[in-house]
Amino acid sequence: MPPSSTHSDIERIMKRKTKTLIFPIFLPMQGCRERCIYCDQNLIASDEAIDYDQQLELAKTFLQAHSGKARQVAFYGGTFTGLEQGKRDALISALKGYLDEEASFRISTHPLFINEEITRWCKESGIKTIELGIQDFDEAVLRASGRNYTTEEAVTACKLVKDAGLELGVQLMPGLPGSSPDSLIFNQTQVERLKLDFLRLYPVIVIRGTVLHQIWLRGEYQPLSLEEAVAQCADWQQFCERVGVKIIKMGLPSQMDQSSIVAGPWHPAFGQLVQAELLVRILEQQNEPDSIIKLDKKQWALIMGNKKMYLEVLQRRIPGSRVELVKSDTAKAERGNNITNFK
Ligand code: SF4
Repeated sequence: MPPSSTHSDIERIMKRKTKTLIFPIFLPMQGCRERCIYCDQNLIASDEAIDYDQQLELAKTFLQAHSGKARQVAFYGGTFTGLEQGKRDALISALKGYLDEEASFRISTHPLFINEEITRWCKESGIKTIELGIQDFDEAVLRASGRNYTTEEAVTACKLVKDAGLELGVQLMPGLPGSSPDSLIFNQTQVERLKLDFLRLYPVIVIRGTVLHQIWLRGEYQPLSLEEAVAQCADWQQFCERVGVKIIKMGLPSQMDQSSIVAGPWHPAFGQLVQAELLVRILEQQNEPDSIIKLDKKQWALIMGNKKMYLEVLQRRIPGSRVELVKSDTAKAERGNNITNFK
C-alpha cells in the first residue's frame, strides 16, 4: 500500500496539483493477511508507536481548519478494507461528522479486499478515493512475486472501484521478480484500458529482514539499477502523458531509514532524476555529438544536481557534448517551447 512520507504534523498536509489537501494517517500493515515479500511498512511508515487517538484529533483539526477547501483524510500503509468491520467503522465514524461537501476519505487497500458490498460501504462512509496496491498486472510477475491474486482479480478490483463511481489510484512496483520489457507493456495496456485516475510508482528496493532480502541473498533476484528504474519511470511518465493518467508519486520516501535498504534503486531525489532523464531524452533529439548544449537555470539544476549524475548520462548519450548555462529566454528561443515547458 502507499507508504508514508513523513510524520511531522505540519509536513503531513501536502498540497497536490489538484489542490486537494491530504492528511495521512498511517496504519502500518493493519488489515494485511500476510506480509508481502518486499514489504516492511513499519520501517517505511516509521516504527514509532502511533497514537491513533491523537491522530484522529489532529485529523479533526485539519478538517475544521481548512473548511471549504478540497481535502481528504487518507488511511495509508495497510489494507483498510481488510480491517475488521468494527475498526473500520470506528475510524470513519470518529471523523465523519467533520466532513462537508469538499471533504472525504481516501484509503489504500489490497485488490482482494474489494467487492460490491465493500465499494457500497465505502461510498456510504464518505470514501471518495481508493488506492489499490496492485504492484503489477502481469500474471507471471504476480506469481514470481508471491502475490496471491491473478491478473483477472486485479483488473476486476479496479473495475469495481470505477463502476462504483469512486476515484481509482493504482500503485505499481517496477522491477518486481519476473518483470520484463513485455510485462511493462502489459502493465501500460492495463493502465490505459482501466482509465485510472492516478498512478503511483515505487521501484522495488530490498529491505533488510524481508522475504525478498532472503531471495536476493540467494542470488535469485536482482533489483533494477538506479538508472534503469529512473528510465522505466520516465517511460511511464511519457506513456501516462499520452493516455492522460496522472502520476502522483515516483520513488519511495526520501526520509526512509537508509540503513535498512540493502539493495535497489532508492534515491532521496528520485523524482528529480526522472525529470533529468526526460530532459536528456529531449536534448538527445535536438543535439548532435560534439554539441554545446545551452541550458536554462532549471535545466542546469537537473543536469548538474545530484552529483552530476545526469551530466554523465548526457555525455554518454551525446558524445563530446558540453553544457552551458544561459538565460532562460536564450534557451527558450534556441530550443523551442517543449523544453522550457518541461516539468
Ligand atoms: S498489502 Fe501493502 S501494507 Fe500489507 S504487507 Fe503487502 S505491501 Fe505491506
